Amino acid sequence: MKYCRFQLNGQAHYGLVESVAGNEEITRLLLTSPESAEGGDLQDLPSKRMDHLPLAQATLLAPVCPSKIVCVGRNYREHAAELGNEVPAEPLLFFKPPSALIASGQSIRRPKLSERVDYEGELGVVMARRCYRLESNEDTRPYILGYTCVNDVTARDLQNKDGQWTRAKGFDTFCPVGPLVVDALDPWTGVAVETRVNGEVRQQGNTKDFIFALGDVIRYISQVMTLHPGDLIATGTPKGVGPVVAGDVVEVSVEGVGTLQNPVVDE
Ligand code: MG
Repeated sequence: MKYCRFQLNGQAHYGLVESVAGNEEITRLLLTSPESAEGGDLQDLPSKRMDHLPLAQATLLAPVCPSKIVCVGRNYREHAAELGNEVPAEPLLFFKPPSALIASGQSIRRPKLSERVDYEGELGVVMARRCYRLESNEDTRPYILGYTCVNDVTARDLQNKDGQWTRAKGFDTFCPVGPLVVDALDPWTGVAVETRVNGEVRQQGNTKDFIFALGDVIRYISQVMTLHPGDLIATGTPKGVGPVVAGDVVEVSVEGVGTLQNPVVDE
């Protein structure tokens, strides 16, 4: 199942996305939010037919409305090394605020406060069910609603200067997400994550190279805080991070999800 969130007649809706003659189209309106499936089958959610709308023509919104965005830093060895960091002994967590969310197609704004703004292409995980203090052997898959593309945009100079990352990671527009949420992926066996700037490949990773497997990450977060339906986890970026400037277009592709595309502007 695939769904998006989009604007129709001035209102935000969730829509089911299907491939029709090779093109992705929004075919049904969901009458409740996907998180209300609470781990059940998205197919069972109430929905109604709509005039098919090609995804490429839709005004997309970020497909998630999380209470929080929990991110994992340095979850690929080669990325830790490229920034001169040790491989962490346990997952390194930080937040991005929901106010940073933007949809595919919206602009990443480079703030005047920063001299260097980097892309970080990542697999995003959307939670289906409330979870807290999962057991060490508990299967996390029933807690996952689906997967999406995330760009963990980072003011690298402020990250280095501040010692903690709230400002560097938290500017408005610093969390592009989308275009879809898809449930039929398996990050445990490997999902390709690729980032391109102006069409040129900059990052090529695969989730099979995670230092901390997705289940370990979710169980680890759940020891600290309750994850709610709709919460978003950004799972870390592969090597190849780098800066963007105004006029660039950044694309993050996750195998099986599609491509998140955002232009960059100066504020
Ligand atoms: Mg990151």
